[in-house]
Amino acid sequence: MYEMCPALDAHGIAVVWHLKAKQSAQALCGQLLTGRLEHTEHSDADTAQAETAPHCQPCMTSFAQLVDQRG
Ligand SMILES: [Zn+2]
Repeated sequence: MYEMCPALDAHGIAVVWHLKAKQSAQALCGQLLTGRLEHTEHSDADTAQAETAPHCQPCMTSFAQLVDQRG
């Protein structure tokens, strides 16, 4: 089971949508997710940024490989 999670990219510059396992704190691309953007009550700017954020390409690649492996 995987879920989308908005967080900073590997460069720490832009917000992107990472993919992560349900119980994991780490995205498929290896980026550690702090959870800061998951609790949006104090981060309206982050939320607005996340809504228009692109998907994390390394995460998408890893996810495609995982799906392939499971047949
Ligand atoms: Zn990622």
